[in-house]
Amino acid sequence: MSGRVTKPLVLLTNDDGHFSPGILMLAARIRRFAEAWIVAPDRERSANSLSLTLRRPLRVQKIRPRVYAVDGTPADCVYLALKKLLPRRPRLILSGMNLGCNLGQQDISYSGTVAAAIQGTFLDVSSAAVSLMPDSAGRFDFNTAARFVGETAKVLLRKKLPSGITLNINIPPGPVKGIKIAKLGQKRYNPEIIAKKDPRGEFYYWIGPGNPQASGDDGTDVRAVLQGFITVTPLHKDLTDYGMMRLPVLEKLRAAFLPNFYSSGDVSDTRRRRASSK
Ligand code: MN
Repeated sequence: MSGRVTKPLVLLTNDDGHFSPGILMLAARIRRFAEAWIVAPDRERSANSLSLTLRRPLRVQKIRPRVYAVDGTPADCVYLALKKLLPRRPRLILSGMNLGCNLGQQDISYSGTVAAAIQGTFLDVSSAAVSLMPDSAGRFDFNTAARFVGETAKVLLRKKLPSGITLNINIPPGPVKGIKIAKLGQKRYNPEIIAKKDPRGEFYYWIGPGNPQASGDDGTDVRAVLQGFITVTPLHKDLTDYGMMRLPVLEKLRAAFLPNFYSSGDVSDTRRRRASSK
């Protein structure tokens, strides 16, 4: 064995594209102590959640050493990175730094940034999503945020997250008051659906900006970020609501099952139809 110590491999991805300053500044910081690889979408793929591309092939472009662009979703990128592109398993996956917050119950469901980290958790790699809040002029302080995430990465490289846990991190603009471990609050979106006519007289539609209203108590991410705190929220991949498993309506659903549903030949018929449609 040689005496050389191999640096840990950190996979960086995002939903803003491999060219986003958020991922590039983070990579520059991570490279100081780890082997940083970027495998990220070739264009912005925000609000793509965990979607996978299954009905067309994926193309990968090598931008420069250790930087790859994929014409797919953030979740596609994590799969391709782990199964094909990286020389070994990453010790950590960082998704971001996203240009905009991912706060509260709705954001984390839609977000491609958060989804890429959840995909990493599904594949049993310590994973964190990092999102930045702009200042009132719409600017992002990438430098300070990257420094903080660099320190976070060092901690996570020393101590693996428990299986099934993804960290969702949001960073407000400076001056930052500290860090809060926060639960998810709510951001209520009510986007306007804008209908217009194309040059051929056909209607098309835009989902407009939602102007979300943050709501939640002091322990929530939405509140803490507005108060100037970095928030860290542990998300669990198990979405089961254990407390609700004895809900009366579920008992009624169970009682609604009648054994004679399956006495006819329906089951095999369905299976045959499905197989032939493939
Ligand atoms: Mn984004």
